[in-house]
Amino acid sequence: MTTITRVHEMQSFVQDARRSGKTVGCVPTMGALHAGHASLITFAAAHHDVVVTSIFVNPTQFAPGEDFEAYPRDLAADLAIVEAAGGGVVFAPTVAEMYPNGPTTSIHVAGVSETLEGASRPTHFDGVATVVCKLFEAMMPHEAYFGQKDFQQTLVVRRMAEDLLIPVRITVLPTVREPDGLAMSSRNAYLNAVERAQSRTISKALFAARELILAGERNGSTLHHVMATIIATEQALTLEYAVAANAVTLVAEPVFRSDATIVLLIAARLGKTRLIDNVLIQPHE
Ligand code: AMP
Repeated sequence: MTTITRVHEMQSFVQDARRSGKTVGCVPTMGALHAGHASLITFAAAHHDVVVTSIFVNPTQFAPGEDFEAYPRDLAADLAIVEAAGGGVVFAPTVAEMYPNGPTTSIHVAGVSETLEGASRPTHFDGVATVVCKLFEAMMPHEAYFGQKDFQQTLVVRRMAEDLLIPVRITVLPTVREPDGLAMSSRNAYLNAVERAQSRTISKALFAARELILAGERNGSTLHHVMATIIATEQALTLEYAVAANAVTLVAEPVFRSDATIVLLIAARLGKTRLIDNVLIQPHE
């Protein structure tokens, strides 16, 4: 295992690898790694000579009052997970290393970053787009791996890389779930035992709406209603949004075409924890 903390060392490491004909995959993370992250690292390792996993809790994607300080940090545990998953290199810079002049330059991806998560957390995706761009500059990957768990983030990152002409292939991999359906997330560590049991209602709502789509339902408000009704059965959950959207445009259409790829997205609060999840339904599933 190699751990690199300086940007210039990261860049020369990757430049050397690329010069010797190796391909480089990267997995950007905020640490507190779990089996979802490990699946990305293992997949990347199967496709590239070098895999760099970045571990950086990015302050600019947290708004004041959010959980930047409380976000779980355990580098030793993370290194063990990266190694077990087959990742050889970790990039773990400090905030000062990533933002040498503070947060002076910021990237805003118009449109796709402004709805749903962007509406709930107005500065979030500017922070994400900016840090992912900077991580690409530091890790110089041929390919970068992201989880479908953060579906809107994958659209924002793809658009940012396209708009800024960054020569990286973006690959999105499926959400890894707990046996009861809860999407794995570093923030699940905030849930107490009671909340942990209550949290499964989110995936239950998504799976129920998915069944309706598979049975032919295409009405957006019916799908919303089904998800909202199931979420309401768990009083501890406060729904922020439950939306059926076109998976390409992220627009919540009133009625979807039969050949549309639909994404169902939910954000809900459970005690002090904010949880998001989604499922994707391909037209001919
Ligand atoms: P994070 O550390 O939460 O910023 O996540 C880093 C990367 O791991 C992002 O691309 C996430 O979408 C992805 N990820 C997080 N949770 C999961 C999961 N349960 N399954 C698959 N990928 C995930």
